Amino acid sequence: MPSCTVLRLSHEVFIFDAGEGAQITLKDSRAKLKRVTRIFITHMHGDHILGLPGLLLSSSVANLFEPDSTLKVYGPPGLYNFLTTTLVLCHCKLKTTVEVYELMGGSLVRQQPQHPKGALFPQFRHPNIIRKTIPCGEDGVWTIKAFDSVMSSKDPRYLEDYEIKASELHHVPNVQTVGYVVKEQEPQKRIDVWKCEKLGLMPSMKFSELKNGVAVQNDDGTREIQPHEVLIDNPHKARKVAVLGDTCGIPFAMAQLCKDADVLIHEATLREEYLNVSGSGDLLVFLLHMLCLLSRNFNLRFFVLLPFNTKPYYR
Ligand SMILES: [Zn+2]
Repeated sequence: MPSCTVLRLSHEVFIFDAGEGAQITLKDSRAKLKRVTRIFITHMHGDHILGLPGLLLSSSVANLFEPDSTLKVYGPPGLYNFLTTTLVLCHCKLKTTVEVYELMGGSLVRQQPQHPKGALFPQFRHPNIIRKTIPCGEDGVWTIKAFDSVMSSKDPRYLEDYEIKASELHHVPNVQTVGYVVKEQEPQKRIDVWKCEKLGLMPSMKFSELKNGVAVQNDDGTREIQPHEVLIDNPHKARKVAVLGDTCGIPFAMAQLCKDADVLIHEATLREEYLNVSGSGDLLVFLLHMLCLLSRNFNLRFFVLLPFNTKPYYR
């Protein structure tokens, strides 16, 4: 099973990591390739990215008749060079635009790679791949997408707005690794129609104003109705999902991002020699202990430990 996690939202699909065979995982998930709008890469190990060029090409074909569609890919620095080099040298054409967002900053101080024959390894440019960057905040968090100011969802069962953030994880020394957290926006409160009618306000556009926190006059203009008088909680709660890849430690900034998550997904594919703990060094025991501590201290509701599938030949 490749490193690839598929998250289906109401109208979009997110992919986290794209190891070799990622397209098989996507097919098994029954998510449509056309719906994939964002791909998130946790780190630049081969078992997490070697399926990415093929995935981009398939996505390009799937969106052949939607040339304005843009696929956004996020990950550590180096991701742009990896994609452009691979696709240019393989003479691959993309029909749609790919925006590559590199997460800049963080704790890892990068050394510029010096190759004695550097001139033989130029930086490649691909006409359909655009390089962008996202700076790290002082709190150690990358804000990939903030909530939109206005709720766009018409049906409260399907929330369309969400926030995406990332922060660093401990993985292998000198390999920058991030985890991602997707959080839906809390749905708008609902109108108590019976109470409105009792106060002299029949269903109308004024309901929207009340939902947006604006007081309105009742139908005969004899009374002003305040939002708190007629708004009731929405039974649909916002959900929060954290995808952390294969780590050997979760720093505080990342743990805080995971607070109150409904689901935390963690891989169990790290080689045991990288565990930075004393004791038995047993990976499963270590990860369960770490996630139980996280669950207790940061109020996780549920965590998923993906199966062992170590591929040391990639590293
Ligand atoms: Zn790795």
